[in-house]
Amino acid sequence: MTPENYLSRKLMLPHLKLTYVEKISNKTLHFHCIKKTEWEVCRKCPTKSYKVHDHRTVTIRDRKFALKNIRLIIKKRRFRCPKCKSVFTESIDGIRTGLRTSEKYRNQLLYDYKNFNTTKAVANVVRCSDTLVTKVVNERLELELRKSKNTPWGSSVLIDEHAFTRDPKTGRKTFVTSFVDNNRK
Ligand SMILES: [Zn+2]
Repeated sequence: MTPENYLSRKLMLPHLKLTYVEKISNKTLHFHCIKKTEWEVCRKCPTKSYKVHDHRTVTIRDRKFALKNIRLIIKKRRFRCPKCKSVFTESIDGIRTGLRTSEKYRNQLLYDYKNFNTTKAVANVVRCSDTLVTKVVNERLELELRKSKNTPWGSSVLIDEHAFTRDPKTGRKTFVTSFVDNNRK
């Protein structure tokens, strides 16, 4: 494996090829990339599609690299299925459909949460909203909770509270309280 291959494998999600790096500021880099596959499978009927219909560009937040905030600018191909004629966008391993953050970013967020303890501190470090921190942490913790069912309660608990969203009807802010078993993370 060449050093270049090794680096790009460490940096990039599988199947993505880095085309160029754009420096946005001293803190932020944009990694422009494309997916390198010959064909994609139709969403509606499992048929191989080779024909590219058009493109659309998406921006995905990815895990930090060398203390820089990374955005993946992916020029996604849209394919036309030869059988059912429907047009679909290619999917990228490591990014769930409809999300604007990669799984690596979301895992990093949980890791930060375990080490910084408060939502605000994590939001500052990963530079996103409190709301996103809460969403991702709850999603990840629920998975971990299932693993640790039937274990005894901890002896100390950490409580954190912050504003979540604004209620569209009343205009009032709603709040979220999180309880963390701090000793066992
Ligand atoms: Zn199809």
